[in-house]
Amino acid sequence: MLINAADRALVEGVLAGQLRPLAKSITLIESQRDEHRQRARGVLEALLPHTGKAMRVGISGVPGVGKSTFIEALGLHLIEQGLRVAVLAVDPSSSVSGGSILGDKTRMELLSQNPAAFIRPSPSGCSLGGVAEKTRETMLVCEAAGFDVVIVETVGVGQSETAVANMTDIFCLLQLPNAGDDLQGIKKGIMELADLIVVNKADIDLAATTRAQAQLKTALHMLRPASPNWTVPVLALSALKKEGVAEFWRTVCDYRATLSKSGEFDAKRRHQAQSWMWDLIDAELRSRFRRHPQVRAELGALTAAVERGETTPSAAAQRLLQHLN
Ligand code: GDP
Repeated sequence: MLINAADRALVEGVLAGQLRPLAKSITLIESQRDEHRQRARGVLEALLPHTGKAMRVGISGVPGVGKSTFIEALGLHLIEQGLRVAVLAVDPSSSVSGGSILGDKTRMELLSQNPAAFIRPSPSGCSLGGVAEKTRETMLVCEAAGFDVVIVETVGVGQSETAVANMTDIFCLLQLPNAGDDLQGIKKGIMELADLIVVNKADIDLAATTRAQAQLKTALHMLRPASPNWTVPVLALSALKKEGVAEFWRTVCDYRATLSKSGEFDAKRRHQAQSWMWDLIDAELRSRFRRHPQVRAELGALTAAVERGETTPSAAAQRLLQHLN
């Protein structure tokens, strides 16, 4: 794909690790304009050979569990070790509220001021699928810019967990020490996505934390493990006191080493890339279908006919789909 001189300069700036070209590239990626989308594709293609080296970490948990406190503590710990850290977010609700879970500058204040960190709020103005796609692309640009760790945060509600688990290497779920009481209503689906569980705020009540760890481990036993080589650990941590953060990172590195040895690490990334491609194809086909003039002309009447039981969903679908031929 050919790119113009300005975008070539953008690519070189990103590869040199400069923050302005990085931010400009992300703005291109997030733009809804067709011309920008086109340019973003060219920039991404040029950057692609330089991506893939970062550790991609997903962090989830209900509001108030301590995600931003934890990400700040973890980010600063990693920077102390000489690593560069990017923090992104997937928060589809920001399209509705106009705000963002990372929009508030008081969150992660120390980290946001650190030159080795880059924090970007969730893109707004699109559906979850759109937010996920843009965050994935932004992650690649951050990797090309030399960030060693990309953290993707998500609020603990809705479908965003699945989207984040599908774009990261390790998906970490934060829990509160009273987790055991009713497992905090955690949906089984979310437990199944977790590669690592952390009970935060252990400083408040150590006994409750230990109990929660045991109960979470029991609950995990009932799930089918995602990897035969990895038993999901349940760690205790205090993000506020920065206790357990080093152990958390050791566990993440251990996960990477274990799954790399068995080949699962690369296999997971290959699978993610493939399903990303199919997500894009599905979304584009659906959008072309809905834009098709004959589909638009017939959709309303056929939907009503299906609702009234005058035609079957299958017959209506066939009739509409034949317009795509
Ligand atoms: P988020 O909504 O998940 O991002 O949660 P925050 O990081 O904003 O934390 C919510 C509240 O919990 C804040 O008042 C934090 O200071 C507090 N908090 C976070 N981590 C800890 C912890 O480890 N121990 C204690 N005692 N409080 C914490």
